[in-house]
Amino acid sequence: MAERRFQRPTIAEIDLEALTFNLRSVRDFVGAEVKCMAVVKANAYGHGAVICAERLEKAGVDWFGVATLEEAIELRASGIVTPILCLGGVWPGQEAIFIESNITPAVFSVNAAADMDKTARSLGRVADVHVKIDTGMGRVGVPFRGVSETAERLAQLPNVRVQALMTHFAAADDLTADFTGEQTKRFFEAVRIFQQRGIEPEFIDLANSPGAVGHPRSRANMVRLGGVLYGLGGDVLPKGIKTPELRRVMSIKTRIAQIKTIGAGETVGYGRTFTAERDTLIGTIPIGYHDGYRRALSNRGQVLINGRSAPIAGRISMDWTTIVLDDIPEVSVGDEVVVIGRSGRSEIAAEDLAGLIGTISYEITCGISARVPRLAVAGSSEIDD
Ligand SMILES: *Cc1c(COP(=O)(O)O)cnc(C)c1O
Repeated sequence: MAERRFQRPTIAEIDLEALTFNLRSVRDFVGAEVKCMAVVKANAYGHGAVICAERLEKAGVDWFGVATLEEAIELRASGIVTPILCLGGVWPGQEAIFIESNITPAVFSVNAAADMDKTARSLGRVADVHVKIDTGMGRVGVPFRGVSETAERLAQLPNVRVQALMTHFAAADDLTADFTGEQTKRFFEAVRIFQQRGIEPEFIDLANSPGAVGHPRSRANMVRLGGVLYGLGGDVLPKGIKTPELRRVMSIKTRIAQIKTIGAGETVGYGRTFTAERDTLIGTIPIGYHDGYRRALSNRGQVLINGRSAPIAGRISMDWTTIVLDDIPEVSVGDEVVVIGRSGRSEIAAEDLAGLIGTISYEITCGISARVPRLAVAGSSEIDD
């Protein structure tokens, strides 16, 4: 990669102090006795899995959760020694790599556990697995109605140890219906059935971010936290309850590449979707939909320059976005542009962009592509006003 100072100025600043602040904040909230799995799948929701995991490991997180074996191996290769759970399960043929790299799979079926057992035996090992029970998410996991038979068969696999039983909530942000309560009930019944078969898991975990914050009974002895660690509480946590204080971890910044005036009746961008009504000052910034600046934000979103907003003019293209600079005094080429984050007294959160285009903050930060360098900052100056 080119040296930083020769790079295009479009960057993602990752505030690692905010990350550890959020971890501490949520830990205080759920109680120190509850273990904490930091979910760093999908490149830590776009924040950079390795830099985030290194910092979270130093902060004493108990587990990491990833989606794929490849993500787990990336962490191991960078020196992470904390236990890693692969939430995406184990695909046939991956068993030996899991065992040899000391990575723990979630398993959704007796078959997957039996394959782990066979490979573990051939390696002279006992493999830990976390058994996922589907209590109503309907995605992956042993159906809660089939738990009895599953427990019986797992108890017969000598080279597999059920280290944890887990489930995943479908609607923990919704406090109006009690589906989370129903899932919790089904899960604890499943745990009881496993215990009757002599399986005593070390970890019992149900809660994601909204579960951990909004459903105290679901905390059990471990919570699996993604969103809240990255400060993405606003649009995924239950509404109307006390929540832990969270800080934004990711800010997206760039600089103005060019400024020009277009006359009344002239247009900018593909499809000519923006027409100037009068002489209009247009700035061009080097960020586009390949960077994850979603094209649906065309003519809808805005960016911040010197604490003021500049609306997007016309279509966002692959590498460029055009903005109206009429309300920005003394603006010049090279000025900093905040796409997500704080500028003066103004602020744009990932959830604000998400709200404009009908998605959630997670999809915005996950979507920031590999083309945007992640730059670790510690308590960036933008935090203090
Ligand atoms: C992604 C994921 C989580 C984390 O969810 P957040 O809402 O980001 O806290 C927890 N558990 C499982 C199984 C997941 O897939």
